[in-house]
Amino acid sequence: MEKIHKCVIIGSGPAGYTAAVYASRANLEPVLYTGPEPGGQLMITTDVENYPGYPEGVMGPQMMEDFKKQAVRFGTVVHLEKIEKVDFTGPVHKIWTEAGQEIQAHSIIISTGASAKWLGMESEQRLMNKGVSACAVCDGFFYKGLEVAVVGGGDTAAEEAQYLAKLCPKVHLLVRRDEMRASKIMQQRVVNTPNIEVHWNTETEEILGKEEVEGMRVKNNVTGEVKDIPIKGFFVAIGHTPNTKIFGDWLDKDETGYLKTVPGRSLTNIEGVFASGDAQDKIYRQAVTAAGTGCMAALDAERYLTEKEII
Ligand code: NDP
Repeated sequence: MEKIHKCVIIGSGPAGYTAAVYASRANLEPVLYTGPEPGGQLMITTDVENYPGYPEGVMGPQMMEDFKKQAVRFGTVVHLEKIEKVDFTGPVHKIWTEAGQEIQAHSIIISTGASAKWLGMESEQRLMNKGVSACAVCDGFFYKGLEVAVVGGGDTAAEEAQYLAKLCPKVHLLVRRDEMRASKIMQQRVVNTPNIEVHWNTETEEILGKEEVEGMRVKNNVTGEVKDIPIKGFFVAIGHTPNTKIFGDWLDKDETGYLKTVPGRSLTNIEGVFASGDAQDKIYRQAVTAAGTGCMAALDAERYLTEKEII
């Protein structure tokens, strides 16, 4: 018979590896499947200066290597594979790798993260981390004293624009319609911040710059007017997509696909299945908060396995 693992972790960002550290130290012998982007979103960032414990900052990929080493040190088995299918019918949960291998586990910790949405321009891809970012809290500090732009009209864009307005002399907010989707209070704050200029009905044609961002070409989609604006930072805040598709209807999700958990806990609607990190958090989305919820998920899994007398 197939071995039934005590604990399987899906995903390898800060949430997954933190869950792995806790689960392995609690003797749950966790097996972790990294997913298609081992290390998660931090692999596409450069300096991380806001993770406690790294007073000089750390490169995102280095930090994820450190997370992994710590998990492996206590016995976590890491597989560089993607999980493609799940079946949460029975008390023993089943998941399948892309190669079709079936894995069984008494508890599953989900930490599959979320992916930022991008505009899809060549210049955006080319200038990624050279002025183009999807996280003002992570990268805003590097643009202190410089002019920047934020794209989007939702709560994230409003929040990022306000965050940047405290660091930068001028923030251009590019909204593609004549109104914002953001909550009224957030919109008011944006409009009342003197150094945020909202460009209504405005879309980005191109991000300008060879080696780093030097400006942007924007078009008013009502008047047709095109203009170049010099900026140093270009923040894309048009939403994230949680990587939760494979859980289909098994797990309760909100209208945008984020996994629902019991407030203040990591429990999902299925016994023995726990959710952590950005797959269940659309508000904070920080490495440190993801790590915190990864810890919660491992502690909840341990408690569950104890209650069921599996360990
Ligand atoms: P949203 O999906 O709410 O908003 C995305 C915004 O980006 C929309 O204004 C959309 O325009 C715009 N957009 C999408 N695609 C493009 C494009 N290709 N070009 C230009 N603009 C584009 O995402 P958010 O990340 O803002 O928010 C996600 C959820 O998280 C929401 O429920 C939000 O309320 C919540 N949230 C709450 C916070 C809080 O409470 N503090 C903070 C952050 C998020 P359009 O409107 O035209 O479709």
